[in-house]
Amino acid sequence: MTQAPRTILVDMDGVLADFQSAILAIWEAEHPHEFTLKESEVTEHDMTQLFPPELRDEFDAIALREGFFRSLPPIEGGREALTEMQRLGLNVRICTAPKKIHRFCVPEKYAWIEEHLGGDWTNRMVMTRDKTLVAGDILIDDKPCVTGSLTPTWTHVLYDQTYNRSTDKPRLTWQNWKEVLL
Ligand SMILES: [Mg+2]
Repeated sequence: MTQAPRTILVDMDGVLADFQSAILAIWEAEHPHEFTLKESEVTEHDMTQLFPPELRDEFDAIALREGFFRSLPPIEGGREALTEMQRLGLNVRICTAPKKIHRFCVPEKYAWIEEHLGGDWTNRMVMTRDKTLVAGDILIDDKPCVTGSLTPTWTHVLYDQTYNRSTDKPRLTWQNWKEVLL
């Protein structure tokens, strides 16, 4: 009996798509004289928590706009890494959580994958707000702690970002992923 290929689940925002820099750039452009946050100052995965309470709703609303998810820039090296994982025989799936208010986010995440990775990858997407329900060996995710209703089968490997450095878990970037995973 041959061994099943290892299954690698790959998160989208903060891993393949640069959510953080895009939303901060929009905020900065629209609020040049108000509170600003530089990417290097982001110490929380949930950036909203770093904003003054009275500005949080307005900041969060940016990601709910039509076109926001569609326009996110890709994180350098992501596409190449996923292609290489497949070439090596790994079972790669994109595992992403949609926003609770999902009208634009869900179709735009599919459109983003089609544009930046190619149409075949839309068949390899799993959208869920509970990633513990998805079976796999590794979850590559930038969120410091991924929880849900089950004990996950996967090991969480962090995609290295400024806001997850206080977490003591294995971590990688698209520059060094082979050294960490293979
Ligand atoms: Mg993420």
